[in-house]
Amino acid sequence: MKKAIKTLRTLLTENNPECAEAKAKEAKATKEKAPKLILLSCPQSMRLLEVRKEDIYSVESFGATVMTNEATLDYAVRRLNLPLLCIMGHEGCEALRRAVKVEQATDEEKVLYEHIAAAFSGKAKKEPQRTLDHIDTEVAAALARYGDLVKTGKLTVVGLYCDEKGRLFLSNYNGLKGKDTLAYSLPEVESFFFMA
Ligand SMILES: [Zn+2]
Repeated sequence: MKKAIKTLRTLLTENNPECAEAKAKEAKATKEKAPKLILLSCPQSMRLLEVRKEDIYSVESFGATVMTNEATLDYAVRRLNLPLLCIMGHEGCEALRRAVKVEQATDEEKVLYEHIAAAFSGKAKKEPQRTLDHIDTEVAAALARYGDLVKTGKLTVVGLYCDEKGRLFLSNYNGLKGKDTLAYSLPEVESFFFMA
């Protein structure tokens, strides 16, 4: 318990009294800026990523699923009108591993794992295919939910793959996938960013 209190104290210290003025200035500037994109990710992988916090409407949820995050995403997509929804999966995601084989889980976890496992139809696929299939399923779910906005060009939904080194690749663009298709559809993006 002592360790938890120490961690809590550090969090409070780093965000409070001494640096109050600078912190308040920074917070005001950030609040005035609208985020540029929505990033749905797993808490495990967010720790690996370099991001400008002020640009991101961050939705961190174990396994990065649309399911269980509908209200949070609806608000960002339909009320804030953010034009880009990124769904990020990552190498070695514990949620995907547990979806294949789990011994102990709460009822809520089981619902999540069943949803995730449906993407690889019960088969224990290897990496990175397992993660890529999961990302595709979640992009498809987002396209189904926000298809009206995607069709009119108001929203773009993409799938991102984050490897263990924290490197980011594009694996799905509005439902399009495969290196050649992505290169053809996005000539302005360098091809080494695409996941095969
Ligand atoms: Zn994960």
